[in-house]
Amino acid sequence: MRLVGKVALVTGGTRGIGRAIAARLAQDGAKVAVCGRTEELAQQAASQLSPDGQVIGLGADVSDSLAVEALIGRVLDEWGGLHILVNNAGITRDGLLLRMKEADWDTVLAVNLKGVFNCCQGAIRTMLKERWGRVINISSVVGIMGNSGQTNYAAAKAGIIGFSKSLAREVAGRGITVNVVAPGFIETDMTASLKEDQRMRLLQQIPVGRIGHPDEVAAAVAFLVSDEASYITGQVMQVNGGLLM
Ligand code: NDP
Repeated sequence: MRLVGKVALVTGGTRGIGRAIAARLAQDGAKVAVCGRTEELAQQAASQLSPDGQVIGLGADVSDSLAVEALIGRVLDEWGGLHILVNNAGITRDGLLLRMKEADWDTVLAVNLKGVFNCCQGAIRTMLKERWGRVINISSVVGIMGNSGQTNYAAAKAGIIGFSKSLAREVAGRGITVNVVAPGFIETDMTASLKEDQRMRLLQQIPVGRIGHPDEVAAAVAFLVSDEASYITGQVMQVNGGLLM
C-alpha cells in the first residue's frame, strides 16, 4: 500500500494497458481517476475496478485542451490533489506513407502526442505546488525502432520520448520525475486485430517467446511512481520481452 494518500489520473484507463495500470495503482493504495472518451464507459470501468469509489471514471478526449482542463479540475474537486499522471491514451490509424490520409496523421498526433502535452500542462501546476509528482508517458517500442505502416504512430511515440526528457529537466529540481514506459507487443484490443501469420512472425522476434500481458506494463509503472524510484527521471523503461535490446 505504498501509494496511500496519493491521487492518480490514468488516461485511456477504460481498457487494456491503462485499465491494468489503474488496477495496480489502486491496489497499491492510490485514489485513481480513469478517463476515456465517454463518461459512461469510464464509469463502468471504474465501478468494475473498485465498487467503493476508490476509482472514479471521467469522460474526456485528451486531444481537446478544454476537455482536459475540465478533467483535471474534476479530479482536484473530487480529491483535492493530483500526484501521479499516467498518459496512456493512444490510438493507431495505420497505413503506408504514400497512402496515409492527412486526417489519419493529424488524429494520431493529436491524441497520442498533443494529448500528452495537454495533460502534462494541466497536471504539472498542481505537482509543482505539492513539490512531489510522477509523470509516466506510455510510448512504444515502435517509437524507438520504427515500424512499416506506422509513420504517424511512430512519430508520436518518438515525440513522447523527447517531450518527456525535456519536461524531466524542467521539473527535476521540484521533486517531480518524468519517465517513459515503452511497451513491446502486449495483448489488448489494439493488438487483437493482428492476423495469425503476423502474430507468428512477431513471436519469432521476441526472445521471451510470448506476447506481453498488460499487468507486466503496470508493474513497471508501479515501480516508477513509487518513492523508491525518486532518483530515476528522463528514462525510457522498455517492457518488450527482449524484442529490442
Ligand atoms: P487499447 O486500444 O486497448 O485502449 C486504448 C485506451 O485509450 C482506451 O481506454 C480508450 O478509451 C483510450 N482512448 C483512445 N482515444 C482517446 C482519447 N482521444 N481520449 C481519451 N482516451 C482515449 O490500447 P492499449 O491498451 O493496447 O494501449 C495503451 C497505450 O499503450 C497506448 O498509448 C498504446 O499506444 C500503447 N502501446 C500499446 C501496445 C500494445 O501492444 N498494446 C504496445 C506499445 C504501446 P475509450 O475507448 O473508452 O475512449
